[in-house]
Amino acid sequence: MARCSVCGAPAVAYIRYQRRYLCREHYLEFVEEKVRRAMEKYRMVGKGYRVLVALSGGKDSAALLGALASLREKLGYELVAIHIDLGIYEYSVRSREAAERLAEKLGVPLIVVPLKEVLGATIPELAKLSGRPPCSVCGMVKRYVTNAAAVELEADALALGHNADDLAVYNLKSFLNQDLEAISKLGPKTESVPGVAVGRIRPLYTVYEKESFLYAYLKGLPFVHEDCPFVENQQMERQLKEVVNRLEEERPGTKVQLVTKLALRIRDYPRPRGEIRRCKACGLIASGDLCALDRLTLRIFGEPRGPRIREWIRERARELGLIPRRAAPAPAS
Ligand SMILES: [Zn+2]
Ligand SMILES: [Zn+2]
Repeated sequence: MARCSVCGAPAVAYIRYQRRYLCREHYLEFVEEKVRRAMEKYRMVGKGYRVLVALSGGKDSAALLGALASLREKLGYELVAIHIDLGIYEYSVRSREAAERLAEKLGVPLIVVPLKEVLGATIPELAKLSGRPPCSVCGMVKRYVTNAAAVELEADALALGHNADDLAVYNLKSFLNQDLEAISKLGPKTESVPGVAVGRIRPLYTVYEKESFLYAYLKGLPFVHEDCPFVENQQMERQLKEVVNRLEEERPGTKVQLVTKLALRIRDYPRPRGEIRRCKACGLIASGDLCALDRLTLRIFGEPRGPRIREWIRERARELGLIPRRAAPAPAS
């Protein structure tokens, strides 16, 4: 039987690119250490920061919240979580349950945003009403709601659960489409624009998908195993995932090299053009007069519904005693 390279206890995992066996305890420590190093290297957080974590209910968001909760005392930040109930049938019911149990287990205050109630329609309904693919509507709604919540909560950073595999695939897909502006958004963090957008951080930047799964599993964190039913539509992502896996198989470490090299050159990619504007309806970041969510809801409901989402989140945050906020953050060092 294989033994842990650190303590000699029975091993549960083999880290191929490091040729090390690890026991449960040292495996959890290994992943947390990876997350801590990425957060320090890329200056994702500072003492007193309020970090809002986007919880989908899947393994990556479970690993993300688990690792961030383990590191919170050492790094001195505060955690709040948000889950959006997308209304995608049974998948959303189970995801919401998992997110609620996870936040409870880790002692992190959670805001749940049920789309049907707050926006008036679920993702499948919004897709039908707008004539757009569900994944595109869903991506836009998630970006809007998580940013709105981060602004309302006066969060210093919004943490996303993208792992190294996800980022390697998005990077290649954007490269094949020569969408260089999309690549410019795949770094470990983006900057805040005061009052209109909160910067995003990706603490799992160098964590493999497999590692994120095993971490969440070994730590006993609740998460849903199934994928969203609409993921079937994403043919290209799946094919690129196979390509990246084959490269990794032959050259262990490929995925992490791909994202760390990208992080080094991220500033060389063109940023989206045009000035940053404030949405006339909701006041958050927009590329035109209205933000994407308010353009869509104005078109299909006859009124922009961003303000309604902001107000709803503000009320929940007040109920949870999260606003007004007390502690002021120190800058990332
Ligand atoms: Zn060990
Ligand atoms: Zn708006």
